[in-house]
Amino acid sequence: MENILNQGGGLLPVAPVVEFKNVSKIFNMGTSLEFKALDGLNFRIEDLPRRGELITILGPSGCGKSTMLNLLAGFHGVYPQTTGEIFVRGQNIKGPGKDRGMVFQKYSSFPHMTVLENVSFGLKINKAEMKLSDAEIRDMAMDWVGKVGLAGHEHKYPCQLSGGQQQRVAIARSLALKPRILLMDEPFSALDEPTRLEMQRLLVELWYSHEATVFLVTHSIAEAVYLGDRVWLFSKAPGKIVKEFNDLPLPAQGESPIKRQKEPSFQAIVDEVAEEFMKIQKSKKE
Ligand code: ADP
Ligand code: MG
Repeated sequence: MENILNQGGGLLPVAPVVEFKNVSKIFNMGTSLEFKALDGLNFRIEDLPRRGELITILGPSGCGKSTMLNLLAGFHGVYPQTTGEIFVRGQNIKGPGKDRGMVFQKYSSFPHMTVLENVSFGLKINKAEMKLSDAEIRDMAMDWVGKVGLAGHEHKYPCQLSGGQQQRVAIARSLALKPRILLMDEPFSALDEPTRLEMQRLLVELWYSHEATVFLVTHSIAEAVYLGDRVWLFSKAPGKIVKEFNDLPLPAQGESPIKRQKEPSFQAIVDEVAEEFMKIQKSKKE
């Protein structure tokens, strides 16, 4: 556990941002559909001063990656875990909270609301708690619309936007609440390659300014290595972390994802991760 200096100069322990202790999830327990999706998942993400980590997660299909994110999000139907404990900043989670934002692969905006209404939505719900006036909500939402590159599109409905633009709405909607933790479940998988690279660049820019801890599930090894400062490889179901690649070079602000992803040093890391991933794919079911 990290320590921080308190006002008296002594060291105070700081709770990790997220901690999973021996977490398992069994769906449909006691029925013929019983399935163990996660088994003994243990990890701890320390609260680093002035920055969040970006953790990318790779693993075979059906190994429990979404289950892990959904448990951490506290989503009904997956939450709670079957065994173990999940802490966010030292507290057991009790359900969803605005400290944890989620962005899904499928564009998760409200179809009957404009871009601005979508981005304002969470702010309006939390208006009293966040002590916001209507004017402040509008300004904050417009600011986020601008940050994700949608200025001029604020009065459009999601169906009038491209896939990449819709995903920008979802990102703005989540980040407007300033979540300490951002959960992204294959957020760019449905996008074409140029849009995907553009979104990777956007995420890096936002991440640098936002200081959130991000968990991003992807099936692209290049994306995992490019975005992650740690890459986790999950085993086949029941999922657990079998390999962690850490201290990966961080994407620089303003850098072109295409340029970086073509460099031999980048490709060497991708090859190393791919080799480990293949070993998991070939392994017998645990
Ligand atoms: P992935 O790693 O592909 O994201 P998931 O976490 O979505 O995998 O799913 C892991 C396993 O758990 C899958 O076999 C899936 O069918 C099962 N599963 C996921 N959610 C549920 C649920 N709500 N009810 C029953 N089974 C589920
Ligand atoms: Mg999934």
